[in-house]
Amino acid sequence: MRECAKLGCRESAIATVGLRYQERVVWVADLLEQRDPNLIDLCAGHADRLVAPYGWSRLDERLKVPAEQPARLEALVEVVEAEQEAAPVVEPPARAWQ
Ligand SMILES: [Zn+2]
Repeated sequence: MRECAKLGCRESAIATVGLRYQERVVWVADLLEQRDPNLIDLCAGHADRLVAPYGWSRLDERLKVPAEQPARLEALVEVVEAEQEAAPVVEPPARAWQ
């Protein structure tokens, strides 16, 4: 498994992102099997939150997005809840969701 390219993020990458300069398109696809130095790999959260720069459009070519999203969200909630049980949150709860 490859890691998300975002600094400080330790999630597993599930998507590959690249740029088409000619068309001004930022595309997101399912993780490529081979790592490509011209492309970046992102985790689910960062791929979903990826915003195209001004004047560019975002093209999501991932095949499994609609079907997997609810399950992934549930899994995320489970992980968060498990973490909260494992390590009591000292900060106010609102900050944990930032
Ligand atoms: Zn990430």
